[in-house]
Amino acid sequence: VTRFVVIGGDAAGMSAGSVARRRDATLDIVAFERGGQTSYSACGLPYFVAGLVGGEDRLIARSPEQHRALGLEVHTRHEVVAIDTTARTVRVRDLDAGRERDESWDQLVIATGATPVRPKLPGADADGIFGIQTIDDGMVLAGWLAEQQPKTAVVVGGGYVGLEMAEAMRTRGIDVTVVERQPQPMSTLDPDMGALVGEALEGLGIKVESGVRGNEFAVTDTGRVRAVVTDQGEVAADVVVLGLGVRPNVALARDAGIAIGESGGVRVDPSMRTSAAGVFAAGDCCESWHRVSRRPVVIPLGTHANKQGRVVGINATGGAAEFPGVIGTAITKVCAYEVARTGLTEVEAAAAGIDAVAARIESTSRASYYPGATKLTVKMVAERGSGRLLGAQIVGQEGAAKRVDVVAAGIWNDMTADAFSWIDLGYAPPYSPVWDPVLVAARKVADLV
Ligand SMILES: Cc1cc2nc3c(=O)[nH]c(=O)nc-3n(C[C@H](O)[C@H](O)[C@H](O)COP(=O)(O)OP(=O)(O)OC[C@H]3O[C@@H](n4cnc5c(N)ncnc54)[C@H](O)[C@@H]3O)c2cc1C
Repeated sequence: VTRFVVIGGDAAGMSAGSVARRRDATLDIVAFERGGQTSYSACGLPYFVAGLVGGEDRLIARSPEQHRALGLEVHTRHEVVAIDTTARTVRVRDLDAGRERDESWDQLVIATGATPVRPKLPGADADGIFGIQTIDDGMVLAGWLAEQQPKTAVVVGGGYVGLEMAEAMRTRGIDVTVVERQPQPMSTLDPDMGALVGEALEGLGIKVESGVRGNEFAVTDTGRVRAVVTDQGEVAADVVVLGLGVRPNVALARDAGIAIGESGGVRVDPSMRTSAAGVFAAGDCCESWHRVSRRPVVIPLGTHANKQGRVVGINATGGAAEFPGVIGTAITKVCAYEVARTGLTEVEAAAAGIDAVAARIESTSRASYYPGATKLTVKMVAERGSGRLLGAQIVGQEGAAKRVDVVAAGIWNDMTADAFSWIDLGYAPPYSPVWDPVLVAARKVADLV
């Protein structure tokens, strides 16, 4: 019998396990998850905390019991503490019984996700300061908010998770300030596009303190946070949510002597195999190949975790699948706004040593005369000379998020800006102007290359 062991019971790990099960009914598949749940949507946590989702069970795509019914042996509250690649075992700690045991494997997938960055600042352990990564974190925060009814919140970090959490707090009627070290929020966009997001937030009643560094958390006598102390003064906070980003959780792999890539994630080849025989990695813990910058990157997103898990499931059962890489497509909703990006920003293109040109246009989401048309700003980046489309960013109140997907398809297929500007996209006044905003932006950047 061959035994396929999964470390980490969420998107990447359980995709790998489920796909393997579908392809091979006889394989022994054993998953260890240190939390209490499997296959939950971390992406849904901001909406759960906002109170829009209902019970946390609605975020669970497949519970441990459902996985077991499909023939996967799932152990929750079990943490893998070491991997032995020679003996082909993992050391597992049963968190409830407090006991450890060794479990053998023939093939293994490391799907341990990412670890949120926690600032090493005075007061960072105070009551009322929360990170948001797992479903357990979401439940703890939602319970605390319901019980304590805070009036003011500070979100530290203006990336997409921070902004989604700021919106969640606002939806609950809490006064929110976002504290961001960079000159504008959403530093995954170019500064000119990130500034649009900052303006939108202010217009929606979320205060943004950009270019501000948090130095310390002020704490009450009872050990509760009361303010974030920044280099520009204090911002009152009954509750603080940290959105400082994540790092790949590679400790287990590193301790086992498995190669870590220059990006900081577990190094994998396109078949998702690591440097150790029989060991795969997938999801937030590993690196991906960026098809535009042609470099390994860590882009921790659920969409990649699911696909990479699928590749592992196929390859662990005798198949030959390859993960084709990523191009940095990401979308988010910030209150009434949609924020989207794909490929490289102008800043990222420069960092990758690519000579790029960029154009920004303003258009509307529907024909300008059609009721409900709203402003849409599109920025497009192309390579000077070749005209290769490198990236796009879109900010607007509707039609930004999924509009970026068509640009992603163009970049994925190495289109030039000129070729892209002629694509046969759908048009009717309720959905777009006759020249769709992404075509207008492509035309403008094509004229610059
Ligand atoms: C608030 C929030 C919003 C997000 N929104 C989006 C979005 O809109 N779109 C998008 O694409 N992505 C989004 N993401 C990212 C997405 O959730 C992750 O990329 C995805 O969950 C990664 O899946 P994973 O299986 O690699 O890791 P995880 O989901 O982190 O799962 C790893 C699992 O491994 C377990 N584990 C770790 N170490 C061990 C160990 N030693 N032993 C046993 N178990 C272990 C952990 O408990 C965890 O359950 C969001 C994330 C957050 C936190």
